[in-house]
Amino acid sequence: MLERLRGDFHLTIITLFGLIAVIAIVPFGAYRFLRGQWLAGVVDTALVGVIATTVVLAWRSGHTRLAGIVIALINSTGCALIAHLLGHVGMMWAYVVLLSNFLLTTQRLAFLINVGLIAVLLLQPELFLDPGECWSFLATAGLVSLFALIYAHRAESQHRQLEALATHDPLTGLPNRRLMEIELAEAQRRRRTEARPAALLVLDLDHFKRVNDQLGHEAGDQVLRDFAALVQSVLRKRDRLYRFGGEEFVLLLPGTDAEGLRAASQKLLQCVRDGLRCALAPVTVSMGGASLLPDEPWMDCLARADAAMYLAKQQGRDRCVIATDTPLDETSRRQVHETA
Ligand code: GH3
Ligand code: MG
Ligand code: MG
Repeated sequence: MLERLRGDFHLTIITLFGLIAVIAIVPFGAYRFLRGQWLAGVVDTALVGVIATTVVLAWRSGHTRLAGIVIALINSTGCALIAHLLGHVGMMWAYVVLLSNFLLTTQRLAFLINVGLIAVLLLQPELFLDPGECWSFLATAGLVSLFALIYAHRAESQHRQLEALATHDPLTGLPNRRLMEIELAEAQRRRRTEARPAALLVLDLDHFKRVNDQLGHEAGDQVLRDFAALVQSVLRKRDRLYRFGGEEFVLLLPGTDAEGLRAASQKLLQCVRDGLRCALAPVTVSMGGASLLPDEPWMDCLARADAAMYLAKQQGRDRCVIATDTPLDETSRRQVHETA
């Protein structure tokens, strides 16, 4: 449970919100019933019930974004109703709702819901003592929404930057091993559930140590950047190139069968031969390919492609070896999982 909360920010916010809503609204509901304010008590109870149900459904279904929208809408409607029933006292909740909407849903939707809530409240002149108070509410509620919007925007852009840093390699800008693992697991799922073929290529630059030794690390870095750009320039949009580590790269070719894998590898070999240079000397690459077998764990497929790449090195480099469609045996699989 904690693991799921740690990995899903949206679910955490919704759960926290559900708990706070229950703790904060239940006593008010009870107080309303005790004071004989039946309708307000029923609204409070209904709010708690619907919010709690939505949180439970979000846990079960995983539709946390939808749950966030539903809770934001329920909150705002509940706030408008309570203000209508209780006047000034109910109005105080408006600020809490205006702020929390930005935590619950997207900036655009939260802004629209807030505009709607403010408008509905302003359309009830009996809620305000005089026009001055009405204008004050418009100004303060508008500013609260604006600052919440600015804050949410900043938080989201920082979140995006952090995510990009955690999932991409700074030298080449390619997705890194962490993102590769997530996307290969997804390709494996699709292979199983939709029978959608996929293939992997492991690419390792040839004699790269020599480039570093003879021309310096900076020149080596430039070759890595050029290689990444060159390969990406000939890939299809849906193909994904990852920097696996050092001068090793992995290429995921979704929707590609054995024939497509062979054609893609030959095209890439030729394009690297023609296009990759370091101090005018050509730099080549060795590749190993494997088709993702039905029900095969992606790690096994990667291990088969890697073994094929080592064969390509042994056979003289600047070539591609495609692995046979034979699943890894138990001993090799254990070795792969132990070293991973
Ligand atoms: P082979 O053809 O057998 O693959 O030989 P190789 O020299 O390419 O392989 P080896 O594994 O011996 O050397 C890889 C080199 O890649 C060693 C390491 O210094 C270099 N390297 C790894 N990461 C980087 C990097 O980010 N920048 C630079 N410039 N060099 C790197
Ligand atoms: Mg190498
Ligand atoms: Mg290597």
